Amino acid sequence: MDFTLTEEQLMVQQAARDFAQNELLAGIIERDDAQQFPTEQVKKMAELGFLGMMVDSKYGGSGLDTLSYVLVMEELSKIDASSSVIVSVNNSLVCWGLEAFGSEAQKEKYLTKLATGEIIGAFCLSEPEAGSDATSQKTTALDKGDHYILNGTKNWITNGNSAEVYLVIAQTDIEKGHKGINAVIVEKGMEGFEIGPKENKMGIRSSDTHSLIFNDVKVPKENRIGEDGFGFKFAMKTLAGGRIGIAAQALGIAAGAYELALKYSKERKAFGTEIANHQSVAFKLADMHTKIQAARHLVYKAAWDKDNGNNYDLSGAMAKLYAAETAMEVATEAVQIHGGNGFVKEYHVERLMRDAKITQIYEGTSEIQKIVISRSILKG
Ligand SMILES: Cc1cc2nc3c(=O)[nH]c(=O)nc-3n(C[C@H](O)[C@H](O)[C@H](O)COP(=O)(O)OP(=O)(O)OC[C@H]3O[C@@H](n4cnc5c(N)ncnc54)[C@H](O)[C@@H]3O)c2cc1C
Repeated sequence: MDFTLTEEQLMVQQAARDFAQNELLAGIIERDDAQQFPTEQVKKMAELGFLGMMVDSKYGGSGLDTLSYVLVMEELSKIDASSSVIVSVNNSLVCWGLEAFGSEAQKEKYLTKLATGEIIGAFCLSEPEAGSDATSQKTTALDKGDHYILNGTKNWITNGNSAEVYLVIAQTDIEKGHKGINAVIVEKGMEGFEIGPKENKMGIRSSDTHSLIFNDVKVPKENRIGEDGFGFKFAMKTLAGGRIGIAAQALGIAAGAYELALKYSKERKAFGTEIANHQSVAFKLADMHTKIQAARHLVYKAAWDKDNGNNYDLSGAMAKLYAAETAMEVATEAVQIHGGNGFVKEYHVERLMRDAKITQIYEGTSEIQKIVISRSILKG
């Protein structure tokens, strides 16, 4: 078993680490406070090729493997999980979905711009009454011959206002249940497409989360992804890969919080010595480090499965579950190690703790990951 990263993977990892330190850290507290979208930072990430990492170079992507993508997600998330979720949605859900299942015309028209980061995309599955239970789609895309008429509301959509292209899941044929669902490409500015107000969030505050409203939006038939009725499968297959990206985000949040706590524990003195010399602090660090390393192995294994053509439903779900739980636990302990300083913004760990929480919720809650995992192991 070879755990060494290739030269290329190490270079990409270093580029992301440098970018996060040099470009994401500055102004992060203010962006988080103001819920300000990182427009300039996204442009620079596009220049670095971080927005279409796994897309073939013929469509303008970086043509890298999933492990490289995971390494970048981890490094960005150590500092700024708001920026990394923008990267994750564009890469795993939008670009990957289009490259894997879109028509050649859709790839030419949309993927080429999304992969270079000229524009960004959004993935729109969740609804007020369809979150974990994604089959309960109320949004409809009624077949009108050469086009669909789209009606309904999506909520919690990442990149909701900053995207130009939206992959929208909707019910075409109610009788057919989840086999009557389609995924269609909607462009910003299509008549009848409204963007709702921005959510005021606990964490990942500078990412841009909105509800979307569709009122008789006319979507050409050629914007349907895959065969008629493929929409639910499209969503599930795309989310299976998305979970690897969010698992890497959770891993990065945990690692970022741990690095800050480790440094602080060697500087802060109490009872005449650095707090790291108190065994209860040192043992916390030992537990944090061990769990992060275990999470890293699960995340890299899921990426490796995807890169090697193996099924990654189970490994991706286990990676997402364990990394998200680790992120929450480690970030909370990092705040504890910082004492009072952990409770204020300047030391960054309180933001990482708030950001960690979302990794247990989106792209399938921790409970939903346990359903995926238990079904898979019980099936034998
Ligand atoms: C900041 C943010 C960004 C998001 N971005 C996107 C996006 O870009 N695109 C998108 O489509 N969605 C997005 N989402 C939506 C997200 O994926 C959903 O919030 C998530 O899937 C949970 O759905 P829900 O909120 O409806 O919770 P519910 O499904 O109502 O769940 C509530 C609770 O019940 C539990 N639960 C539900 N069913 C079961 C069960 N069968 N067994 C055990 N427990 C269960 C859940 O685990 C949870 O704890 C985002 C959400 C947030 C908060």
